[in-house]
Amino acid sequence: MAIKEYEFWFVVGTQHLYGEEIFADINSHAQEMCSEWSDKLPCRVVAKPCVKTSAEILDIMRQANNDLACAGVITWMHTFSPSKMWIAGLSELSKPYLHVNTQYNRDIPWDSIDMDFMNLNQSAHGDREHGYIHARMRKKVKVAAGYWKDEAFQNKIGIWMRAAVGAAESRKLRVLRISDNMRNVAVTDGDKIEAQIKLGWQVDHYGVGDIIRCVENVTDAEIDAQMAEYEQYYDMDTDNIEAVRYQAREEVAIKKFLDENGFGAFHTNFEDLQQLRQLPGLASQDLMRQGYGFGAEGDWKVAAMTRIMKLMAEGMTDGGTAFMEDYTYHFEPGNEMLLGSHMLEVCPTIAADKPKIQVHPLGIGDREDPARLVFKAQTGNAIVVTLVDMGDRLRMIVNDVECKEQTNDMPKLPVAGVLWKPMPCLQTSAEAWIYAGGAHHSVLSYSLTAEHMRDFAEIMGIEFIHINKDTEINSFKKELFYNDVAYKLGM
Ligand code: MN
Repeated sequence: MAIKEYEFWFVVGTQHLYGEEIFADINSHAQEMCSEWSDKLPCRVVAKPCVKTSAEILDIMRQANNDLACAGVITWMHTFSPSKMWIAGLSELSKPYLHVNTQYNRDIPWDSIDMDFMNLNQSAHGDREHGYIHARMRKKVKVAAGYWKDEAFQNKIGIWMRAAVGAAESRKLRVLRISDNMRNVAVTDGDKIEAQIKLGWQVDHYGVGDIIRCVENVTDAEIDAQMAEYEQYYDMDTDNIEAVRYQAREEVAIKKFLDENGFGAFHTNFEDLQQLRQLPGLASQDLMRQGYGFGAEGDWKVAAMTRIMKLMAEGMTDGGTAFMEDYTYHFEPGNEMLLGSHMLEVCPTIAADKPKIQVHPLGIGDREDPARLVFKAQTGNAIVVTLVDMGDRLRMIVNDVECKEQTNDMPKLPVAGVLWKPMPCLQTSAEAWIYAGGAHHSVLSYSLTAEHMRDFAEIMGIEFIHINKDTEINSFKKELFYNDVAYKLGM
């Protein structure tokens, strides 16, 4: 489903105490708010009739759980809605949950305010009664307070919505493993059963032979059509058209395999190519452009996260989202930076200019020279995100970074690259990332922010670690230690 096909339900709480006549006002206010939010936010918000009893609340939460288009529930207490009424419904709610603390009127109407007004507009205290019950129940919830027309307040809702859509997509994601992990590598591996329990990913292995059979069956006409797409998006900067046509053949085959089996992400492994003549480079890059998740060297976790983050960022006009690797350092004093890249497979959505298709030898993999896209990346703020298996839990690590202009060419290293300054500085960022056990593989996104990923991690119930401008190593290490203690206690 595309992000626009999801909706969120606005469930407004009240009770019978104040007379039936207020319900029409409450419902019309909710309609007006949903219409404003649906215009401004990534997804539609649907106003449900206000709820007044425990039975009504339980009923709407059960409906939300079972509705495939409903990506989450937003609650608001227009009046005081006694929270014992909410226990049954909140106990069963399994969709992402946002509690907004807002008020229909922005200002206090000093001249006209009276007891009728107060009976209708009680969110200042009604939402606190509601907050107590989700705190008491240890219910996973995001709380957003502010005036409902205010842009900063709406942005908080929008960020949570994208995270909730990511959660919905995560729970139905299938990941294709072409071969296994790179031999002996630890950080890219992990517990696939735990990942499926926590995140919903079904991670399935196929032998390289299954893909090779598809590669052999690709027709010349299919390759021609794929080549026409390459011409549309990229500059053909090579005379070795046969090598490019072989990548087109691989792409057609992998794409067919993904679509026919319902996979949204895949990985390759250069150690296990068998009769494949090239490591899929251009093929993987062009599949990422179309929104498929990708990881190299058997990295199924980062393949899945690339897919989910691309879906979360859908429709955002700025930047792009790409599989990434910490490649090499620039330790010039006062201008420390990190070059992110991979030997082939960097997603062209982050390119600053039209990428070039080139064919060059590859030092590893022991196959023919692979065609790949070469480009420099955009400038701007971004995040890098990784996910590691700590044995007793999954840990997401996010670093805020600033992508800089890459003024130097690399005539002898024909890869796509991103040059960034990690926050708070290269040294502290690298120390923190390494203390946290972060992988060398990550997803880089110019579109999403750490808040999107924090909301996603909270919805999914996984650990969230954020390296940012305020990170200081000693308190960061304490955070890791306290988190360990909390998880050991099962909190
Ligand atoms: Mn790698």
